[in-house]
Amino acid sequence: MATDETAGTLVVGAGQAGISLVTALRELGDTAPIALVGDEPEAPYERPPLSKSYLRGEHDRPTLVFHDAAWFADLGVELVTGDAVTTIERDARGGRAVTGSGRALEFDRLALTTGAVNRTLPLEGADLERVHSVRTLTDADRLAPRLRVAREVVVVGGGFIGLEIAASARALGAAVTVLEASDRLLGRSVTPLLSDTVRAAHERRGTRVLLGASAVGLIGEDGHAVGVALADGSVLDADVVVVGVGVDPRTDLAAQLGLTVDPRGIVVDEHARTSDGLTVAAGDCAVGPNPFARGLVGPTRLESVAHATDQARAAAATLTGRPAAYASVPWFWSDQGDLRLQIAGLPHGADHTVVRGDPAAERFSLLSYRDGLLIAIESVGSPTDYLAVKRALEKGMTIPADSAADSSVPLKRLITRGRDTRSP
Ligand SMILES: Cc1cc2nc3c(=O)[nH]c(=O)nc-3n(C[C@H](O)[C@H](O)[C@H](O)COP(=O)(O)OP(=O)(O)OC[C@H]3O[C@@H](n4cnc5c(N)ncnc54)[C@H](O)[C@@H]3O)c2cc1C
Repeated sequence: MATDETAGTLVVGAGQAGISLVTALRELGDTAPIALVGDEPEAPYERPPLSKSYLRGEHDRPTLVFHDAAWFADLGVELVTGDAVTTIERDARGGRAVTGSGRALEFDRLALTTGAVNRTLPLEGADLERVHSVRTLTDADRLAPRLRVAREVVVVGGGFIGLEIAASARALGAAVTVLEASDRLLGRSVTPLLSDTVRAAHERRGTRVLLGASAVGLIGEDGHAVGVALADGSVLDADVVVVGVGVDPRTDLAAQLGLTVDPRGIVVDEHARTSDGLTVAAGDCAVGPNPFARGLVGPTRLESVAHATDQARAAAATLTGRPAAYASVPWFWSDQGDLRLQIAGLPHGADHTVVRGDPAAERFSLLSYRDGLLIAIESVGSPTDYLAVKRALEKGMTIPADSAADSSVPLKRLITRGRDTRSP
């Protein structure tokens, strides 16, 4: 165990939350040594382009990386890459972690920003060649050259990442089929009208979308996938299969530490504190309260850049002994080819929606209300609406539902005081 005050902070997981936490610690004036440990070979980088521009070959590899070696040196941050923390122990004063390569790291403060791993299909053939999923740069580097020559691509899963990859594959000229087991796309995240609009937009661009369609097996030849068998007995030919069926949070180290973990993640409070009251956790690995999640039961795990960044800031504030609750408006974007979705707030539990603009023209916004108050906006090709609502939510303001549909009036002119939409 650590025996002095100078062991510093150990941040396990060098992704979006990890780099944000380190940055926030320095911005908050914290000068203690920091070790940021990541198991991927690269310095921390942006994931969003991996399913979009990077996959299409429009984005250079080096531009994905957040900072160069000089930045880490200037900030006094020791960056360890390509080495996973495998064991960890701590007490109230600090602790010790050991990596796969045998490196021992002492710490007096600990942050877990371990992210998530892609789920695999529990099906025969899931480990065949040419069955892909994208979480890391390595994954994208494997898929990109295949996609460039693919003729028939089947994407299993109609969530954000599956649809982004489908749009990229289509833009590269492949025939694309998206399989979604439920009755609509993006079903866990968005309102039904947005699901329908997104489906129509993909179909308009030539992608086939099959709803209520479950893959039951992957068909292989010479060790690589050549098709997908569906529950209805049909078979789709494919020279590339992409699996986008969600993620599982990485909670193994938290479990080792005896922290409270549930299937959705490492349980944290509004200050990103875990159950031991000392260790913090943030980003895709963590599940916690969100004042904007009025329509969701229990703690929430959000998978977005904004959430990882904002929760990591709260975690940094906690580590410096000046906790500031994480209470940011959730926001998210998804570029599916030339279709840009922007979402602020959480539409779950809405009892009224207002459509503004024209869904068929792929330029519209959907405003969600609960108990008469604005709780979220989902916009397609309407960034001004999106920004107006995001600002309104940030200020605890609302926009009257009865005037919101008139797209000749800018939404920012309609913002008015309302009861705070955040849960008490
Ligand atoms: C392809 C793709 C596209 C996306 N597009 C969007 C988008 O358009 N908009 C948006 O808002 N969000 C998007 N996201 C989501 C967003 O990128 C994630 O929510 C965000 O990266 C989460 O950050 P994180 O730090 O929690 O996890 P990660 O970024 O996954 O970082 C966690 C890191 O910890 C490492 N790690 C785990 N365990 C250990 C260990 N024991 N030792 C060392 N290292 C460890 C992992 O390997 C990983 O590098 C996208 C995600 C993906 C994968």
